[in-house]
Amino acid sequence: MLHDAIQVGHFGIHKTVARAQNRLYWVNHKDEITKWVQNCIVCNSFKQPPRKAKSKMKQYNVGAPMERVALDIIGPLPIAYKNNKYALIVTDYFTKWVEGFPMPDMETTTIVYNLVNHFFCRFGIPCQMHSDQGRQFESGLFKELCSKLKIDQTRTTSFSNGLVERYNRTLENTISKYISKNQRDWYEQLPWALMAYNSSEHETTKFSSVCIC
Ligand SMILES: [Zn+2]
Repeated sequence: MLHDAIQVGHFGIHKTVARAQNRLYWVNHKDEITKWVQNCIVCNSFKQPPRKAKSKMKQYNVGAPMERVALDIIGPLPIAYKNNKYALIVTDYFTKWVEGFPMPDMETTTIVYNLVNHFFCRFGIPCQMHSDQGRQFESGLFKELCSKLKIDQTRTTSFSNGLVERYNRTLENTISKYISKNQRDWYEQLPWALMAYNSSEHETTKFSSVCIC
């Protein structure tokens, strides 16, 4: 329940121990959780060698929610419901809250549609949006959106978008552990993966963005 249920996402030892400590009193929980996670068949089938950081990661200090959000795209994924094969991932730097929106393509119009209709309308307009140098974020339409809504746009090289790169790797791993053999059900699993991620303890803040029991 603490590790392999759909709402908790097969996270590693640290996050699983933190989840247990928030909910239960359990003697020897660290040892037992460590053993459980190390022997998890699903996790073991997805083990990857540790990646080396490609460049030094820059530390951004933010003081409030929506001060700075990061945008990234994962995919192409197997074609799912309504031809969706990408997901736009929006991460708030302060709370570490992650949202994900399935998309059939990664054109600027699709990204702008999802940002306006599904992110800005629910969460508000961020002060700053940060992305890599993907052409979608360089286009005139995207710049116009930022200018009209007075959003400061920052971009970086594709290798130094450390926070998002790390989150997306975790998200993609989580989704991978849920999906079935034909892999087309990532669309249904994405909200569960986001819930698992948002409710896990973050390494830097030592808090989760949301609590689930
Ligand atoms: Zn597992």
